[in-house]
Parts: sequence; C-alpha cells; structure tokens
Amino acid sequence: MAVMNIPALPLMRTCRQAAALLVAREDRALRLSDTVALRLHLLACKACPQFENQLLTMRLAMGRWRNDAGEAQGPDSQGLQRPE
Ligand SMILES: [Zn+2]
Repeated sequence: MAVMNIPALPLMRTCRQAAALLVAREDRALRLSDTVALRLHLLACKACPQFENQLLTMRLAMGRWRNDAGEAQGPDSQGLQRPE
C-alpha cells in the first residue's frame, strides 16, 4: 500500500488527511482548496481511491436502506421525527 507521509507540495495531503476530508465530505461541502487538494491526492495515491469507493458504496447502501425504511421526507425534516 502506497502511503505518503510527507507532503511534497502545499496542496498535497497525507493519506490520513485525505481520509479525513473524504469522511468530512459526506457531511458537509469542503472548501475549494480542500477539494482541489483531495482530488490531487486521489490522483497520486493508490490507497485512498479505494477508501473513497468504500465510502461511496456505503453511502449508496445507506440511501437504499433509508428508502427501504420508507422515509420519503425531505432533508429539512431530517431528525425531527423519531419512531417511538
Ligand atoms: Zn492516500
């Protein structure tokens, strides 16, 4: 597994940082500089694109699970209703 521990350029990220950005991206929009840095890292790294695929697969599975659970509510009402 190729692991880059030393950032060679200001925009380069370590695998740990890239993984953190990938996870954060699931919840919120990244800053432009983070988006660019992440994209550069994914181009240069062999391990992180696999992690990204896992995240995407997980998100798809979660979305499917939510649909199966019959939650047809918009994002605005998310978390407001809890099944008792
Ligand atoms: Zn990496």
